[in-house]
Formats: sequence, structure tokens, C-alpha cells
Amino acid sequence: HAKSHEPGTQSYFDETMHAEALHHVRLQGAVQDGLDLGQFEVYYQPIVLLDEGPLERFEALVRWNHPERGVLLPGEFLPLMEETGLVVRLGRQVIEDVCRQISAWRAVYDRPVNVSVNLSDREFWHAGLVDHVRSNLAKNGLDACCLTLEVTEGVIMRRPELAQQLMSRMRAAGLRLHIDDFGAGHSSLQTLHRYPVEALKIDRSFVQELAAGGQNRELVRAIVAMGTALGLEVIAEGIETPEQLAVLREVGCGVGQGYLFDRAVTGSRAAELLGHSFEALARTLPTAAPAV
Ligand code: C2E
Ligand code: MG
Ligand code: MG
Ligand code: MG
Repeated sequence: HAKSHEPGTQSYFDETMHAEALHHVRLQGAVQDGLDLGQFEVYYQPIVLLDEGPLERFEALVRWNHPERGVLLPGEFLPLMEETGLVVRLGRQVIEDVCRQISAWRAVYDRPVNVSVNLSDREFWHAGLVDHVRSNLAKNGLDACCLTLEVTEGVIMRRPELAQQLMSRMRAAGLRLHIDDFGAGHSSLQTLHRYPVEALKIDRSFVQELAAGGQNRELVRAIVAMGTALGLEVIAEGIETPEQLAVLREVGCGVGQGYLFDRAVTGSRAAELLGHSFEALARTLPTAAPAV
């Protein structure tokens, strides 16, 4: 977009823009091939009960096993997939893989396991979503309460009324709904009050700056109190240090996620974690090998 008026720099911008466009086109082709060839893999990050209950919940986080560049994180490919609409295809694969995985875990763990799946803007509004979820649950003999859908305030706020209807449909199908990245948007109380959600996930940015006596501590305390008063579960994202954990426990946050416990791991590694408390895991198991 940048147009240069400096003499002699015109070609620099042209070249940059050309290179960007080329990168874009190549990436899109590679993403399409990746979808066809099954290069996208779902990893699972533990969602931990801070009172040390058994681990039975995960968040599904997709990675791209790129043939040349190794394991790529969503930041490298999701924005483009969202832009082009390819994310709908990706999301369908994620739902299929997650349902198969939950079913496979039953061979090694006999209590119900829940997986949270992220929905991007396009996926949330896509007409076929609920039917696709339902048919994959049925195909794998799973109850709907095995799946949680995560949606951000930003997505909901684009069409608040319609979102309410859609979410009611999801709830009627038995699915759970969580608000992701809570606090990073700008809706808050209204969102919590009007939408049929069961939990909110406090955005990582709040947790990261949690220090004993710090300002964020009171903010997080208020979010937890508000969520709890509305009957919601509150989940803290991005817990990295024992100090953050201590503050979260102190303000009454019951559930958390973060590198302090584990990163996202493969489905088979996740099977080894099922049923353990994170304290027990830290004592008995070496840190996971393939974790990103
Ligand atoms: P999110 O849903 O908010 O997921 C949490 C992100 O924080 C993940 O990044 C996770 O790896 C990272 N994280 C977890 N604990 C910590 C921590 O202690 N410290 C730090 N620094 N980071 C932590 P990831 O996997 O790169 O995913 C980024 C975003 O991409 C997700 O944010 C989600 O919005 C999106 N995403 C991931 N998988 C999918 C998917 O299958 N479908 C869709 N539509 N979006 C996805
Ligand atoms: Mg999420
Ligand atoms: Mg989040
Ligand atoms: Mg996010």
C-alpha cells in the first residue's frame, strides 16, 4: 500500500510488495496442500484444576507439520486461512481429529475427557458447524459434553443478537461454550450476562503481569469475583510461574492453563497425563519431549 514519493525508492517498494504477494500466494498453495496431505495436527494443552484434581481436560491447539520448515504455530498460518476462508476446512478437520482422539483415549482412561476447540470468526458463523460437530460426536459414540467451543468477545460482538441465537443452538445440542481471551475485548459484563456460556478464560496478558501486590492482582480478583457471582467457571490462561499460580489461587481462581504445567502435547502424550494431578506429574514424569 505504501506509495513512495522519494525519488529512487519506488522500485524498493514495488519489490517488497511483489515479494509479499508472492509469499502470500505460495503460502496459500502450501496450506491447501497441507490440508489435502493431512499435515495439520492437533496438539493438546492440559487444562488444570488448581486444587490438584485429576487432569481430564485439554485445549486443542493446531500445528502444521510443514515438510520443510518443521512444526509451525497458528500465528504463522491462521491469519491467512481466516482471510481466505480455508480456516473452515481446517476447523472441520480439527473437529474430526478431536472426536477421534477423545474416543481413542477411552481405551486408556475410563472417565469422560473434555476438549476445548477454538472457533475463529468464520467458523463460528458458518452454517454447517453444529451439524458437523454433532455428526462427528455421533460417529465416535461421544456425548456432546465432551466438547467445549471457545469463542472470543470480538467474534460475538460483531453480531450480538445472531451470536446469542447461535450459541443457544449450540447449548441445545449439549455443547459447552467458553469465552476465550476474556478482558482483551471490550464487552465484558454484557457478554457474560446475556450469553449461555459456562466459563471465561482470563486473557494471558492479565496473568503475565500478575505479581504479588501488583495492580493486576486486584483486576484479576474482580474478574474472578464477577464470573463466580454469575455462576461461571474462571480459567486463567498462560500461567508460567509459581508466583502467578499462588496469586491466582489466592484470588479464588479454580482452573488454569500454562507452561508451568505443560505446553500443548501430542494426543498420545496427553493419554499419559490423563487422571494425574499436575503436582503428581511434576514429581513422577520427565518433561514431555515433543511439546510446542
Ligand atoms: P488461544 O485460544 O488463546 O490459545 C492459547 C495460546 O497461548 C496457545 O498458543 C498456547 O500455546 C499459548 N499458551 C499457553 N500457555 C502459555 C503460557 O504459559 N505462556 C505463553 N506465552 N503462551 C501460552 P498457540 O497454540 O500458538 O495458538 C494461538 C491461537 O491460535 C489460539 O489462542 C487460538 O486463538 C488459535 N488457534 C489455535 N488452534 C486453533 C484451532 O484449531 N482453530 C482455530 N480456529 N484457532 C486456533
Ligand atoms: Mg483458546
Ligand atoms: Mg485464549
Ligand atoms: Mg487467542
